[in-house]
Amino acid sequence: MDDWRIGNIRVTRILEMCDPLRTPSEWFPDCTDEALAQHLHWLKPRSISPATGRIILPIQSFLVRTGHHTILVDGCVGNDKTIADFPHWHRRNDGTFLERLASAGVAPEQIDYVLCTHLHVDHCGWNTRLVDGRWVPTFPNARYIMARRELEAAQTAYADADQPTYQENVLPIVEAGRAVLVDMDYELNDEVWLEPTPGHTPGHVAIGLRSQGIGAVFSGDLMHWPMQCIYPDWNFRYDTDPDQARRTRWAFLEACSDNGRIVMTSHFPLPSVGTISRRHSSFRFVDHQPP
Ligand SMILES: [Zn+2]
Repeated sequence: MDDWRIGNIRVTRILEMCDPLRTPSEWFPDCTDEALAQHLHWLKPRSISPATGRIILPIQSFLVRTGHHTILVDGCVGNDKTIADFPHWHRRNDGTFLERLASAGVAPEQIDYVLCTHLHVDHCGWNTRLVDGRWVPTFPNARYIMARRELEAAQTAYADADQPTYQENVLPIVEAGRAVLVDMDYELNDEVWLEPTPGHTPGHVAIGLRSQGIGAVFSGDLMHWPMQCIYPDWNFRYDTDPDQARRTRWAFLEACSDNGRIVMTSHFPLPSVGTISRRHSSFRFVDHQPP
């Protein structure tokens, strides 16, 4: 089990999937063959599949146990969801996520808070599960913390095009009265808070942690691939505001290289956790294996 200590806070990875999905140029339009060729020696085999040339993308949540609360950061893809883009994400029937949560010693009823970095399909799937044809909160006692701005953007996207992710993963939480809508700099307490990091989505937040003088941050989807530390201007194809996404990424990388916080990414190759160091005119991601 992948487990980190941030002072008195325990962080445990709950991995749902880890598969090669798309080629670098499909996801990063600025990625050239020349740039890629310079880095393939370290990208393969952990980040790029030698067999297919596709980026291997972990889909994971992080379980955060403080002295006061049991918290889940993001909710992976989930079961039974309607997902057109990736056939093996569509209507899954897979016990892995809940089994891994159980082996970390946590039952769904014990989650006090679900913190949503944003409301995309691979981050809020386990918000809900299908029971007798109805979507219900998977974590019945949790308050689901969502940035108000993010929920509004998801509602607008849903109104424009029937969007199953909103209908299946978000709306049932709101209707069950479990959603808590907050500002993008909301503080849960002095150990856990949200940090505005818009660009990938309008209401995207990172999640900061601090205990006993040690800092960490969940970066959500403000970056998807360690190559974006070397080339912070490279956007992910689905960043909704490209200029804002670049500004957010540069500011985040500069701050993390200065303050040394441990960065817990959603999608970087496993272990997905590390620190940012400055190198020449940009940055490098330095992996931290679990102790
Ligand atoms: Zn994602």
